[in-house]
Amino acid sequence: MSIAIPILMYHQVTPRIHPKFLPYSVTPQTFKIHMKILEFFRFSPINLTQLLDYRNGKTSLPKKPVIITFDDCYQECVDHAVPILLEKGFTAVFYMPTDYAGKDSHWIVPELGIEFPIISWKTLKHLDSCGFQIGSHSMSHPHLSKINPEACFKELYGSRKILEERLDHEVTHLAYPYGSFNECVRAIAAEAGYFTACTTEELFSSPLDDLLLLPRMDVLGYMSNLDFILKLHIQGSFNTTLAWLEYTHGKIRGIRRRIRRIREKFMASD
Ligand SMILES: [Zn+2]
Repeated sequence: MSIAIPILMYHQVTPRIHPKFLPYSVTPQTFKIHMKILEFFRFSPINLTQLLDYRNGKTSLPKKPVIITFDDCYQECVDHAVPILLEKGFTAVFYMPTDYAGKDSHWIVPELGIEFPIISWKTLKHLDSCGFQIGSHSMSHPHLSKINPEACFKELYGSRKILEERLDHEVTHLAYPYGSFNECVRAIAAEAGYFTACTTEELFSSPLDDLLLLPRMDVLGYMSNLDFILKLHIQGSFNTTLAWLEYTHGKIRGIRRRIRRIREKFMASD
């Protein structure tokens, strides 16, 4: 079967993890180990343009591609993760909530009572010039499936336009804040000019995926290094195999959706 790709989702990388933000934070030491694990298992980080070109039949991919993504553009990711990425020669994708450039992540306050500095436009431009890929994470980080279509279009089109103005080149990649999407949000993302959009569904990306609903593997702060290795090799492969079976065997179509529903029920009763 053709290539299945883990798209990893990081949020915060900090030496001082806030307990309330533990699921979304890893220390620089852990991040460094993760990058060493990728290197050890001969993964090759690529960006979304390479994935897109591959999906459009324009190019081939390395044998074991991986995509490293960061949501929210926390300043500490630039302070602590970027030097490690540069040292390894690894590329990554940074998703920016444009209303918060140079401010704090105020959208977390109602839920957790904490906030973290977000990078400035100058830093974003620097990341871009270093070869990292910049994508949109909307303007104000809303649950896109809970706002009206006009507001959703403004969030997606507006953030793309301001990123393009600031970076002086096309921006066509998106990550839905909170992984919140529905059919209408997906259609608006296409209308707003995006070629790819990432969700937070725990799967490897496979050639069967809708490019505007790319799944990602959440890297959680309480995962052990072994968990990370297993995530890279077993969990994603298992889910991707199911997706392949769905594709080739019409009768069991929807099995992933059913498993996801069971998992959500299980988690809700936790
Ligand atoms: Zn986010």
